[in-house]
Amino acid sequence: MINKDVLKKAIEAYTARTGLPLNNNIEAVLFDMDGVLYDSMPGHARAWKAMCDAEGIEADADEFFAYEGRTGASTINLLYMRQFGHGADDDTCRRLYAIKSANFKAMGLPPLMPGARRAVETVVKGGPKCVLVTGSGQASILERLDRDYEGAFSLRVTAHDVKHGKPDPEPYLLGLAKAGAVQSSAVAVDNAPLGVESASRAGIFTIGVRTGPLPEGALMAAGADIELNSMEECADLLSELL
Ligand code: CA
Repeated sequence: MINKDVLKKAIEAYTARTGLPLNNNIEAVLFDMDGVLYDSMPGHARAWKAMCDAEGIEADADEFFAYEGRTGASTINLLYMRQFGHGADDDTCRRLYAIKSANFKAMGLPPLMPGARRAVETVVKGGPKCVLVTGSGQASILERLDRDYEGAFSLRVTAHDVKHGKPDPEPYLLGLAKAGAVQSSAVAVDNAPLGVESASRAGIFTIGVRTGPLPEGALMAAGADIELNSMEECADLLSELL
């Protein structure tokens, strides 16, 4: 159950930080994908690590949780700078991302995040538009969304749509534009510090959901307006809010 006082305080803090009210009539809920709709982050981390091993790039599987939300090209550039002292050109980014994507696909499809379907169904029934806002370009998982979430995500921002990935606010601002919504009538749901930062900087009421190995408070520190421990809690909060 969501404590109503905690939610009320979070909305007051949102207004203090942005100067905006949070409208009673929410028009759009923007969902991140990996670690929110799918329990896919452990698989992504293993896929990145296997690509690095094959390419002679030193890396630790756990470090990829910290890069969550970045575009693939941004992560590859970071790895290249560290290993070789220079960035990776576009061809290299495409080639290495293709290897990582193939590794991920070979692991089979990741499970849905518990609670995520109920959260999305709550939004669909309540009336607001659902918008996908992901830094991912992973075709194998994007192709599954329609089946797993019954067409709820016709509006999508993916790695292919943005110049600046998370933590830049661009992905969430584009998500708002696609829904035709303004900040004060939207809510964002993200599980990673970089994603939370992106949504928060876009001026959206940001629900941080700790579905992975993050310490308590890490998403509040990144700019979340409220931090929850699961998508089950998020579903409860959305039914309270909508
Ligand atoms: Ca995520």
